[in-house]
Amino acid sequence: MKTYDFVSAGSIRQALSREDASYLAGGTTLVDLMKLEVMTPAHVVDINSLPLRGIHCAPQGLRIGALERMADVAVHHEVAQRWSMVSTALALSASPQLRNMASIGGNLLQRTRCDYFRDVRMPCNKRKPGSGCPAVNGDNRMHAILGGSSACVATHASDLAVALVALDASIRLQDRHGERVIKLADFYRLPGDTPSVENQLRPGELITEVIVPACDWPQAYVKVRDRTSYEFPGLGGCGGRRALGRGAGRPHRGRRRGHPAVAVAGRGEGSAGQAGDRGELPGGGPHGGG
Ligand SMILES: Cc1cc2nc3c(=O)[nH]c(=O)nc-3n(C[C@H](O)[C@H](O)[C@H](O)COP(=O)(O)OP(=O)(O)OC[C@H]3O[C@@H](n4cnc5c(N)ncnc54)[C@H](O)[C@@H]3O)c2cc1C
Ligand code: SF4
Repeated sequence: MKTYDFVSAGSIRQALSREDASYLAGGTTLVDLMKLEVMTPAHVVDINSLPLRGIHCAPQGLRIGALERMADVAVHHEVAQRWSMVSTALALSASPQLRNMASIGGNLLQRTRCDYFRDVRMPCNKRKPGSGCPAVNGDNRMHAILGGSSACVATHASDLAVALVALDASIRLQDRHGERVIKLADFYRLPGDTPSVENQLRPGELITEVIVPACDWPQAYVKVRDRTSYEFPGLGGCGGRRALGRGAGRPHRGRRRGHPAVAVAGRGEGSAGQAGDRGELPGGGPHGGG
């Protein structure tokens, strides 16, 4: 493991003082990838003392602090009643131990589980731009059916992001220059020619909260995976409004209501890269922006 300096931020202002820092929330992605030397930040800022907690349910919608733990949001009574896709997606994510540790903000910024990405001996355009993508013609059973490119066919790994995109949720971001709110559907980028650029986050920017509008339509989150004890999704889909996550390079949302939930054949049937380049959702749903 490479050396790095570490500070525990006592205030948001202090946390934002280094644009080149990596934030540490639950650490279940960051520490993992630092040990593999896939992520090698020189500066790590622990944000766990920041006032970024709280689950606020109101008639107009839901607000979740970025440092809320996945487990706490999953079991929150009103979230389960009114935004069942959120609680189901969280409850089906990872393991109980991980959900107790991992935060909502960190979940949305977790990295792909592509094995080549996690092995620094292998080329990978996402980790090392221009080095190539061994997955296109290699082991791509768990890779994207939709939204891939010839440069990268990695899938998006977050269950929660799929539910939030279906719900038209936004995230609040803060850096040294101020705040902005962006729709999650616009936040994530398709890989295109630059798979190393995964989202619209600016250097040093912090996710402070997730904002979910009120929802009056029936919801369901469905996850297809290799084993039910715990496993990343091979495919994650939401009914009501349609959104598709794992199985795709980023969460996608259909725009027409009243359609059945997205159903796509199992992982890696056919060529992940070729199917992804078509850039269409089955049933004619477009990519959801960004
Ligand atoms: C074995 C295993 C199985 C898993 N299975 C699933 C699964 O089935 N479904 C699923 O969705 N996830 C799964 N996960 C991923 C897990 O949910 C994420 O690791 C976790 O949510 C990350 O949250 P964290 O708080 O630990 O993030 P950290 O590891 O602390 O941070 C992750 C990244 O986000 C950045 N970051 C964190 N918080 C903020 C913030 N507020 N603002 C800006 N940047 C921030 C960090 O700098 C880092 O780059 C699994 C993980 C493991 C290890
Ligand atoms: S699919 Fe993407 S993450 Fe995986 S090896 Fe190819 S470029 Fe890297």
